[in-house]
Amino acid sequence: MKIMTPGPTQVRENVRLARSRVTTNPDLDLAFYDFYKDTCELLSKLLFTQNRSYILSGEGILGLEAACASLTEPNSRVLVLDNGIFGAGFADFVELYGGRAVRYRQDYRRALEPAPLAEFLRQDHDFTYATLVHVDTPSAMKNDLEALCPLLKSYGILTVVDSVAGMFGEELNVDQAQIDILCGGSQKALSAPPGLTMLTVSSAAVAAMRQRKTPVASFYANILNYVDYYENKWFPYTMPVSDIEGLRAALENVSAEPQIVARHARLAKALRSALTAAGLKLFGENGYSNNVTAFELPLGISAAALLNELKEKYSLLLAGSLGELEGKLIRIGHMGENANFADLALTCEALNASLPALGFELQADIKQVFANGL
Ligand SMILES: *Cc1c(COP(=O)(O)O)cnc(C)c1O
Repeated sequence: MKIMTPGPTQVRENVRLARSRVTTNPDLDLAFYDFYKDTCELLSKLLFTQNRSYILSGEGILGLEAACASLTEPNSRVLVLDNGIFGAGFADFVELYGGRAVRYRQDYRRALEPAPLAEFLRQDHDFTYATLVHVDTPSAMKNDLEALCPLLKSYGILTVVDSVAGMFGEELNVDQAQIDILCGGSQKALSAPPGLTMLTVSSAAVAAMRQRKTPVASFYANILNYVDYYENKWFPYTMPVSDIEGLRAALENVSAEPQIVARHARLAKALRSALTAAGLKLFGENGYSNNVTAFELPLGISAAALLNELKEKYSLLLAGSLGELEGKLIRIGHMGENANFADLALTCEALNASLPALGFELQADIKQVFANGL
């Protein structure tokens, strides 16, 4: 089965091999603290930030929860920027930890617009922090962090960004965008298996956590439990050594490819052109991500029928969508190791065959337009 979903993505052999190395005791072997620290420093470097990074044992969702758990106090007002399924989902974490989520909802078909947000903030800016999503995967929507986060920061609002599906495929400069807590996951563009969360945390965010009046209502999701690990030679729990070995190899793969963002951009653009030329409609009016592409289902074809045809006849796994977009979109994940010509050509070929089989008349050869577009 060829996995072309927007995460988990394909995992390169050197990452799989790194995970099979002999393991140590990460609590007692002091060398592990240096290995962990070096890995975190590489992560910070690749994300263009002076902020410290931390690796938490838990899939990407843990990072979103940890950010909210660590910054939310009872009745904290939190601005939840919602132009997609994950954007909306932050409100649940805020409320779970006793905060008051103020939802700022925008049409899911457009990237978050700075001008109306600026207008809103002029009226109301009494927020502890704001949450937003870099790439909202279920709709393949990309938000412009460098336009949005500095605007929030200009009112002293801390910024929490979910870039689980953005980092390493999309342009991302944490310090330039002024992101206080950036959340990432191992299984998207970084292309390690699922299981780890990566965070970059600003000193302003740590100061806010230290100044809380109430304790963080979690142990596993309390970022303060990580910040002094190196000085204290203490982790809040035994670190998953093999997962981190794999993550380190994946980070080194990224480090060895300075053109990684350009690779994603080139392939994504050609794919969008090919789908459009064939008569399919991309979801949304702007903000197309270079990590995932979502197209609307043609009239009369169900998501289940198309996904099933692709899986049964072409051994190709694509994804539908989630929440209110479920059943309406098909998504092709082309981030990290998935972002290569051969696999995308194969994906185009399978769509070329399966769409007409389900009654959709193609206006162009998807694979040909894709290949010509590169
Ligand atoms: C994948 C992803 C996560 C992690 O969520 P899962 O549903 O557990 O995979 C969080 N945020 C975004 C935007 C993601 O794409």
